[in-house]
Amino acid sequence: MLDTATALAMQPAKRMPREIAPGVFWIGDCLVQRHKGKIYHGYNAAFLVAGESASCLVETGHPKDFPVIERHLNVLFSHGVPPIKYLFVTHQETPHCGGLGRVLKAFPEAILCGDVCDYHLAFLQFEHRMRWMKEGDEIDLGGRSVQVVEPVIRDLRTTWWAFDTRERVLFPGDGFAYSHYHEDGHCGLVAEEAVSLDLPDVSSTFADLALFWTKFADMNVYCDRLDQLIARLGVKTIAPTHGLPITDVEATVPKVQQGLKEAALRPESGTNEKVVPTGTAAPAG
Ligand SMILES: [Zn+2]
Ligand SMILES: [Zn+2]
Repeated sequence: MLDTATALAMQPAKRMPREIAPGVFWIGDCLVQRHKGKIYHGYNAAFLVAGESASCLVETGHPKDFPVIERHLNVLFSHGVPPIKYLFVTHQETPHCGGLGRVLKAFPEAILCGDVCDYHLAFLQFEHRMRWMKEGDEIDLGGRSVQVVEPVIRDLRTTWWAFDTRERVLFPGDGFAYSHYHEDGHCGLVAEEAVSLDLPDVSSTFADLALFWTKFADMNVYCDRLDQLIARLGVKTIAPTHGLPITDVEATVPKVQQGLKEAALRPESGTNEKVVPTGTAAPAG
């Protein structure tokens, strides 16, 4: 028999849904990645922002995660969270919008919001439920709204970030992207709880693998711009798609920025290592 802590560590999805700020719920699951001989876990998270009359789902999770996402949403609905009227996705990349078709099918009232470029090519049947948004536009959920804000760290030209105006939660998509260590029980923890997590290291590794343009940019400028955005909006919590949520902005953001700046100074290290099939000897060296 496993003790409870071990069982939880092995089934991270059991810690979710987790309320990271009043009415803002973290849902989804981890994805295993191998790099430099280490096993990293990354989230492809989604978040539910619950207003008084409606909820907004931010991101959809990885396609493999839809059963988990749906289960977590049903837990929230059973606790009285209002139905999903809006789906906001930061950009057109699989870990962010890969469950889009299934979400729109499962929640027939939901409107897809953001830069909705190209989605109609895959989901012509939902084209009438797509709403373009740009910086400053807001979705009203009753008592709070989700606002589209400047995407300082962007993966695609079409990226937008979202911001919850009531609890001042920033949803930065690929901004603040970093892995965590499953063996240390980090799954389902916020960044400040994962005390053994080397944030500069996992941030620089993620930038190396997923944000190649950071090699060719002055990341000091981007980090200054991030600081300006955080100050202007009065951000209290950061809910990244891939990283653990940040609940102490002042203490944690500089560690992530350190990783971005360090990664920018090193050449790209290549793509993820491939999984060695069971029973096959790993290549030497
Ligand atoms: Zn991403
Ligand atoms: Zn994990």
